[in-house]
Amino acid sequence: MNIDELKKVRRDLHRIPEIGFQEYKTQKYLLEFLSKLPQTHLQIETWKTGIFVRVEGTKGEKTIGYRADIDGLPIKEDTDLPFLSQHIGQMHACGHDFHMTIALALVQKLVFDRPDNHVLIIFQPAEEGPGGALPMLQSDTMKKWWPDVIFAMHIAPELPVGTVSSKEGLLFANTSELFVDWKGKGGHAAYPHQTKDMIVAASSFVVELQQIVSRMIDPLDSAVISIGKITGGFVQNVIAENARLEGTIRTLSADTMDSIKDKIEKLVQAMEIRFDCVGSIDYGSNYYQVWNNGEYINQFEQQMNQANIVYKQADQAMTGEDFGYMVKEIPGFMFWLGVDSPYGLHHAKINPNEDALIVGLKAAERMIRYINV
Ligand SMILES: [Zn+2]
Ligand SMILES: [Zn+2]
Repeated sequence: MNIDELKKVRRDLHRIPEIGFQEYKTQKYLLEFLSKLPQTHLQIETWKTGIFVRVEGTKGEKTIGYRADIDGLPIKEDTDLPFLSQHIGQMHACGHDFHMTIALALVQKLVFDRPDNHVLIIFQPAEEGPGGALPMLQSDTMKKWWPDVIFAMHIAPELPVGTVSSKEGLLFANTSELFVDWKGKGGHAAYPHQTKDMIVAASSFVVELQQIVSRMIDPLDSAVISIGKITGGFVQNVIAENARLEGTIRTLSADTMDSIKDKIEKLVQAMEIRFDCVGSIDYGSNYYQVWNNGEYINQFEQQMNQANIVYKQADQAMTGEDFGYMVKEIPGFMFWLGVDSPYGLHHAKINPNEDALIVGLKAAERMIRYINV
């Protein structure tokens, strides 16, 4: 695909964003594109709303895996682009339209000019939630075509076009959702002694929660616990029988994540005793850290230098990525692709520069062809 074709595919996909495991139109579009390619050395298997695509290598000693996520976000697009989302309230605000376009172009290039090794391109649903990487990894197709190395890219609005970025070791944090439901006893606001007030229990819990990171985690380690939403009660003069807290936990190490969860559970037990109530915890979706293999990062940096793509050392971030599950089981790495947008990821006005499609394609193709496994 030349730049015009890349833009067309990207815009087609941008118009039809779909949230996790509902990527039906997206999957159909991808399958249609793939069906038009010569099929002789191509194998295609669907998995839920995702797709596995295998290109048979000419020598075929190893298998190189490449993952592209395909889901959009429940965000109402606020750009004035001519190819605006046609699904009101849903948007490709995380660049997964870019990721898919580059992956399709990769398959096309590889089919017409086959690489030495086999290549497994994974179109993965539900990255934004509830998480498609882990179940896809456990699927029979994945086991059959198991890669020896795997990598992935993500757009980076803050980096200029022509730039990629990564680092050895931790790139994305361990993340977990946190939902805590409190159940007590409601009643008249003037008779608090006859009730178990869950507004007070939930509020105390939020305050106590602040001491976990500040007092129980090594200051040289890093962790975040944020509560973003509180609901409870229904009217001003009735004591609330129920309350719910919704938040997130992020850590730089998997052990610290376990330790924080243990402390939260103990705190909930303490609150149950203190307020004579029942608290229940749900961790929702959990993403394992993305840990980049140092050897492959070295190769990536060298390949980018040779391809005249600027390589920058990345910082670690407290954001999550379910690709972490894949690099937990298969050595590999993830990198950022500069797309130079004034608005960041998950912003309703994000507008990545499409010239980056060529750069992303070049970077990924180069690694697939020249990676030393
Ligand atoms: Zn995202
Ligand atoms: Zn994303």
